[in-house]
Amino acid sequence: MNPLILIHGGAWDIPDDLVDLHLKGVTDAAVCGMRLLQSSALDAVEAAVSSMEDDPTFDAGTGSFLNRDGKVELDAVICEGTSMRVGAVGAVHKIRNPITLARKILEKCDTIFLVSEGAEQFAAEQGMPLCDNEDMIIQREKERWKALSKEKKPTQDFFKHGTVGAVALDRKNRLAAGTSTGGTPFKHPGRIGDSPLLGVGTYATEKCAVSCTGWGEAIMKAGLAKTVSDFVDRGESAQSAAEKSIDVLEKRFSGYGGVIVVTRDGGYGIAYNTPRMARCVYAAGMAAPTAEI
Ligand code: ASP
Repeated sequence: MNPLILIHGGAWDIPDDLVDLHLKGVTDAAVCGMRLLQSSALDAVEAAVSSMEDDPTFDAGTGSFLNRDGKVELDAVICEGTSMRVGAVGAVHKIRNPITLARKILEKCDTIFLVSEGAEQFAAEQGMPLCDNEDMIIQREKERWKALSKEKKPTQDFFKHGTVGAVALDRKNRLAAGTSTGGTPFKHPGRIGDSPLLGVGTYATEKCAVSCTGWGEAIMKAGLAKTVSDFVDRGESAQSAAEKSIDVLEKRFSGYGGVIVVTRDGGYGIAYNTPRMARCVYAAGMAAPTAEI
C-alpha cells in the first residue's frame, strides 16, 4: 500500500494571525515524518510529533500551556498497531520530547504507562537528558498564565487547544499513531487528559491508526479513538468513521474536537467540530505535503 503520513496540530478556534504558523508547523512535521516513513510508521510518527513538540506554535513540548502552578506538564503516547506495542507518559516536567520517552517505554519497558517522577526516572536510566521546566516556558504562555491566574480557574474556553498528533502507514502495512500535549490552560497539577490514554486520545490496530484532539474530559467519556476504530471494524471508510465519531462526541457527550485516521488500505479521514483544525497529508508520490486549516 502507498505509504502515508497524516498530521494534526490541534482543533480549536485558531485565530487568523496564527494560521500561517500552524500551516508551516504541520507541513514541517509531515516532511520530517516522510523522511523516516521508509524505515517504519513508528519512526515517522515519532519524528513528526517531535518536530511539533519543538515548535512553540503548538501546545506540546516547548511553548505548552502552563498548569495552575505555572509549570509545563506534558503527556504523550505512541503505539504500533500490528504488534500492538504501546508506550505512554503523563504529567512529566523535565522532558523536552515526551514522544521520544514514550517510544523508549514502548521499546524498553515491561509496562506501558509511566507518570511524573517515575517516568523521569526511567528517562534518566535510559540516558535521556532531563531539562529544566523553565526551558520549555515561553513569554506568550507566561502572559496567558498571568491573565488566567486572576480568574483562579482553568479556562472554560473549549476552543483553546493545540495538541499535536500523527498517524502513519508504512510500506509493510504497519500502522502507528502518536499524540503529545501540554493539556489544557491552567489545568490542575496532575490532570491527565485523553491524549496519552490508549483507545481514548490515540489508538492503533492492524486496521487503523487514530489520533484525537480537543476537550479531553469529553473525549475520555466517549473513548473517541476506539470509537473510530470500531467504526472502521464495522466496514466504514476512514472518512466516514472519523465523521461518525465526531458526531458521537458532540451529540452524546457534548464534546468538541477533531480526529485523524489512516486505514490499512491507504485511506484516510479527517473530521472536527471546532471552527478550525490544522492538518497535513503527505503520501508517497505526492510532490509536496498538503496542509489545510
Ligand atoms: N485533548 C487535550 C487534553 O485535553 C487537549 C487538546 O487536544 O488540545 O489534554
